[in-house]
Amino acid sequence: MNYKPGRIFLSVPHMGGHERNYVLKALEDNWVTTAGPNIPGFEHDICQHTNARHAVALNSGTAAIHLALRLLNVQPGDEVLCSTFTFVATANPILYVGATPVFIESEAETWNMCPDTLEQAIQARLKLGKKPTCILLVHLYGMPANMKDLLEVAQKYDIPVVEDAAEALGSRYSGHQLGTFGHIGIFSFNGNKIITTSGGGALVTADEQLAEQARFLSTQAKEQAPHYEHTTMGYNYRISNIAAGIGRGQMEVLEKRVKQRREVFSYYKQHLQRESISFLPEPKGSFSNRWLTTVLLDATSGKSPEELRLALEAQNIEARPLWKPMHLQPLFKDAPYFGNGLSEKLFGKGLCLPSSSSLTEEDLEKVVKVILREVRE
Ligand SMILES: *Cc1c(COP(=O)(O)O)cnc(C)c1O
Repeated sequence: MNYKPGRIFLSVPHMGGHERNYVLKALEDNWVTTAGPNIPGFEHDICQHTNARHAVALNSGTAAIHLALRLLNVQPGDEVLCSTFTFVATANPILYVGATPVFIESEAETWNMCPDTLEQAIQARLKLGKKPTCILLVHLYGMPANMKDLLEVAQKYDIPVVEDAAEALGSRYSGHQLGTFGHIGIFSFNGNKIITTSGGGALVTADEQLAEQARFLSTQAKEQAPHYEHTTMGYNYRISNIAAGIGRGQMEVLEKRVKQRREVFSYYKQHLQRESISFLPEPKGSFSNRWLTTVLLDATSGKSPEELRLALEAQNIEARPLWKPMHLQPLFKDAPYFGNGLSEKLFGKGLCLPSSSSLTEEDLEKVVKVILREVRE
């Protein structure tokens, strides 16, 4: 990729400073592979911060979702109830295990899985004689889903929950960190997320056996034996000690990064206040890490999100459409979908603004200036 200098990106890595110490130590001690002290150290940091009982550090968030589905024994032909309004990495692992996603529409308040629609979908699938194997829900852009009502539905029908908190590390719901409400939670440390390990992910759970099984499956499912003995299909999904070292440095500044992303949100909200632009408020009891600031453009703005995106691009500023819902993706054209089309409307009206924690006030001023020039009151 060949960008002009001075570009304002959507979301970039932001080192805290101590990452290099952990990485240098790993190099000096020759712990450069998928073993070494940074890995349990990083897992410990994740547990400390999220209050999760067990954490397993992996080489991507997608790998963590794949393992979560394996741990919950999702079989070929099974159905997984999945948020439709998300990035494709949530849904792809359902295909990896040969299952079928059943896409569930969002609610307006959080943009995340609608509890009523979830229940309707479960009832409809039960009527067809098919009980879904698990619920895979997302906390999009860092905003907590309505966990109270979603868990109530999940418990009523006795279906386990996986939380895709890839975008939501550091977000809280009724005082607890996201990722710790479901049977399994997952985080991503991809380069665009709130903190990064260059690439990586983690699976968290309160169930020691599930955590052990995740470690086993992520390291080629080697049975206890001096030779290589295998009874189960495994994966090469463990994080490296180098990447985990970056993660340890990043965990030191996570709180700061959350604060900075929230300040970016506040800046936009304050300076872009007008009839034709709206922001997603935090429901009572929810605390979002505001991973990305999103705006919805009303028709009265006189601009489509795509026109605004191009106007920003002309000034060397990166903005992106909201995620295109999964039930609209050609990849999933045959998958069942339950809902009223809300996410499609959001997709048509929304835009993600540059939200890096390293943005300066000067950068933010520049973005706001372009938007105010383009958009009518
Ligand atoms: C980034 C992301 C993932 C995948 O994480 P990787 O670490 O990139 O594999 C999964 N779900 C959502 C919602 C994401 O934004």
